Parts: sequence; structure tokens; C-alpha cells
Amino acid sequence: MSAQSLLYEGKAKIIYTTDDPEIVLAHFKDDATAFNAQKRGSISGKGEINCTISTALFQYLEKLGIPTHFIDSVSPNQMRVMRLRILPLEVVVRNIAAGSLCQQTGLPLGTVLKQPLVEFYYKNDALGDPLLTRDRLLLLELATPEQIAQLQQLALQINQYLSDFFKKCGITLVDFKLEFGLDSQGQLRLADEISPDTCRLWNQADTDPNNRVMDKDRFRRDLGNVEDAYQQVLKLVLAQTANQD
Ligand code: UDP
Repeated sequence: MSAQSLLYEGKAKIIYTTDDPEIVLAHFKDDATAFNAQKRGSISGKGEINCTISTALFQYLEKLGIPTHFIDSVSPNQMRVMRLRILPLEVVVRNIAAGSLCQQTGLPLGTVLKQPLVEFYYKNDALGDPLLTRDRLLLLELATPEQIAQLQQLALQINQYLSDFFKKCGITLVDFKLEFGLDSQGQLRLADEISPDTCRLWNQADTDPNNRVMDKDRFRRDLGNVEDAYQQVLKLVLAQTANQD
């Protein structure tokens, strides 16, 4: 299997075609962006860390019966994944109020939600990734009613599995973003990545609102020690993965 031509370059990953039309190669970059790419930078070693964490979490979820795009790992910052038709949606699951939920609703940071909240955002940089209602999803034909129900169910199931995994790592899963795509059989599969770039992760042992942050908020909010926090998450995820085997 060799990487062939560049298919797509995003903010954090480059996707290459391979000699198999059903398989693409995802290369994880060290580049970091925030606030719709208005803030740009680089987190040293991030590509390898996020690829390794995502690999561990995709394998964990697959074992529990969640269909993902993951095939195998090629190098520390490259994985082979199924070529999917990606839905232009960001599915966000929240357990604790943070980020845009606090900004848009006034809920105080850290409010524990009575039940997990699933939200759909339109993946469209030009429009600033707006929050969608169910009716807008249907209006724009971004998903069918069946797909919406399935996405919601998958998102909640994945939240349970990931919350449980991170809890055992000593980490609270505050919220996270998922992307999904359809495979050649029309089946929904989890795609993209699961990493400190796409999750809010708080150290359970630390109540200080800045010190506890182990995710991209350290970069977004200039909290410092970004690489250290990502390395720490990697270490805990790998230790927990080894524990489960
Ligand atoms: N998120 C992401 N990519 C995005 C927007 C959000 O990975 O383009 C993740 C983010 O890291 C957080 C969750 O989704 O874990 C919820 O993000 P939120 O809506 O609060 O937006 P933010 O405050 O990050 O702009």
C-alpha cells in the first residue's frame, strides 16, 4: 500500500488516496487552529499523539460494536481508513457545560448536565459552523429522519463508552465532537478523529479551572504547557488500553 495523490487537506489532517479506491490514508499534522482558523499555531508532536490516541479509541469502540472508518495504523502519525461519504455535520455531545454552550445559554462553566446533550452543527467554515435544529437538518437534506435518529443513538452510546474509558484514566469527558460518514453499503460509520483536539478533557484530580484542562482549550486560551497536556492524555490512554487487553 502506498500513498498516492493528495485528496484533501484540512486543518489538522491530510487525506491521500491509496492504490485501493475504498481506502484512504489519513496523515495527522502538528498544525493547530482555533476560532474558525483565526488563531493558528503548531503543537509539537500533536500529529503522532492524536493519531495514536485516535487509533486506541477507534479500536476500543470497534470492540464494543461501534462501526468506525479505522482500518489500521501505518506509522505513528498515519492511519488507513475507509473512504466514506462524510456528512457535513459536527455531532457534539456534552456532559458538562463549557465553550459555546456557556456562551450561548448563560449556563455557568462546569454545570453538570442532567442528561447528555447531543447537538448538530453544520460543518461549513464560510457560515461559521452554525448550530442546526432537526428541522434545518431536514430542510437542508443533510440527513434523513432515520439517520438523525441513528446518529443520536450512536453519539449517546459512544459517549457512554468514552466517558467510562476516560473515567478509568482519571479524566472527565466534558464534551466532544464526532463526524460520521456513509460507507459503500450506506452504513453510518464514525470517522475523523477522537483526540484532545476534539474533546474537552479535565483532570479529575485537579479542581483548578485552568490547571485541570488537558485538551485544545490550553491552546485556544493560551494556558501554556499544551504539549505536556497532550502527552499526559496519551500516556493515560495507552496505560488504560494496556489494562483492558
Ligand atoms: N469541537 C471540535 N471542532 C469544532 C468545534 C468544536 O472539535 O470545530 C469540539 C470542541 O473541542 C469541544 C466540543 O466540540 O470538545 C464542543 O465545542 P463548542 O461547541 O463548545 O465550541 P468551542 O467552544 O470549542 O468553539
